Amino acid sequence: MRILGIDIGGTNIDVVLYDGDFHSKGSFPTKEAFSSGINEFIGRIVEETGASAVGIGAAVWYKNNKPVYSPNLPSLPEISLDLPTAVENDANCFAVYAHHVFDFPNLLAITVGTGIGSGIVVNGELYRGDGFAGEIGHWFVGGSALCSCGGRGHLEAYFGGRALKKYGNVKELVSSGKIYSLREFEMFCIVIANAVKLLDSAIVLGGRLGMNLDLKKVREVVYRYMEKFEPAIVAMKDELAVAKGACLVCLKALSES
Ligand SMILES: [Zn+2]
Repeated sequence: MRILGIDIGGTNIDVVLYDGDFHSKGSFPTKEAFSSGINEFIGRIVEETGASAVGIGAAVWYKNNKPVYSPNLPSLPEISLDLPTAVENDANCFAVYAHHVFDFPNLLAITVGTGIGSGIVVNGELYRGDGFAGEIGHWFVGGSALCSCGGRGHLEAYFGGRALKKYGNVKELVSSGKIYSLREFEMFCIVIANAVKLLDSAIVLGGRLGMNLDLKKVREVVYRYMEKFEPAIVAMKDELAVAKGACLVCLKALSES
């Protein structure tokens, strides 16, 4: 069985093929794929790779399996393919792959890139609630900064890559260590500590910004707000984690159908 895993992000679409192992099949600009039609774009890759099923991880909020909102995509992707397809929120795919790699039975996976996404695994299973459980990027943390979702004062409006640009080059902000003295970093760590008090889970960080954070610094500040417990906090340095997770989500859906 050859399963295609597709990560539809705000900037790029990453593709992997799973046949027992994962193989990268390239990265494509999101805008171009949408302008040529997202279903046609995926159809072409299916043909090229000979895949028999497709897993899609998209930067989309789903409610009762219906896409409802995608602030970072050119349009809401209505996926319609003529082969078995599983569609899931991108951060949920990341959480599934994080569970596959780290094997924590309970985990909160957090991706920090342009925005902040998160997915929850409880007792080894993805927890969706009624659809968009785990959106810690949209927790209210104070103030009135405008968020990509239209809300104000959400974590993503302070600590997402888009928000941090006001301090200059975000990559440099991380590599120089300046990010750790920002109030926004403390906000991020406080949200993590609060989430752990809700879930009592391990934390897996990912995304272009999240995977490069200094874990010592993250632990130091999170544990300051934890009093009694010190949850495991790890990073997954894999830019294809969402696409790989999408393959696993598809594999599971096929095994259950
Ligand atoms: Zn928001």
